[in-house]
Amino acid sequence: MAKAAAGDGGADSSIADQLRALGVKGVLVQMAERGQLLVLECEMPQCYHHNGRGAFDPVTMPRTKWAPSPDHYPVLKSAGGHLAPENVRLSHVWCNNLDYGWRKRIGTLLAKGKSLAEIAEALNRKGVPPAHGRNRWTAAMVRKAYVS
Ligand SMILES: [Zn+2]
Repeated sequence: MAKAAAGDGGADSSIADQLRALGVKGVLVQMAERGQLLVLECEMPQCYHHNGRGAFDPVTMPRTKWAPSPDHYPVLKSAGGHLAPENVRLSHVWCNNLDYGWRKRIGTLLAKGKSLAEIAEALNRKGVPPAHGRNRWTAAMVRKAYVS
């Protein structure tokens, strides 16, 4: 697995230190200090960073698309989920935003009775990007991403 450039100690405290070095505060640092984050990697089902899940930009105002961000998971913010250690996964800002978009679209098409192959085709037609390293959505990718 890819490691962040800031260090590769692997101990929980080093993850917290790496997060702080990136300018991250709050729940992600707290989780790392508690041994609840084992690697500094984007945990979204689909990651779009060309250098891999472990590459992050420092936090700036506004955040760049590759800055670290806490994703509400498993309970979405829109469903009342909070940013607490039991409901957070580490994400890139961009991967988090795209996740919301394709997840909503897949859910709508599933409700309409579309097959996974039809949904993959629809995502490709609409230009929804698949994860980095993939050219097109496939039926299997749609299912795997949706249930992740
Ligand atoms: Zn990512």
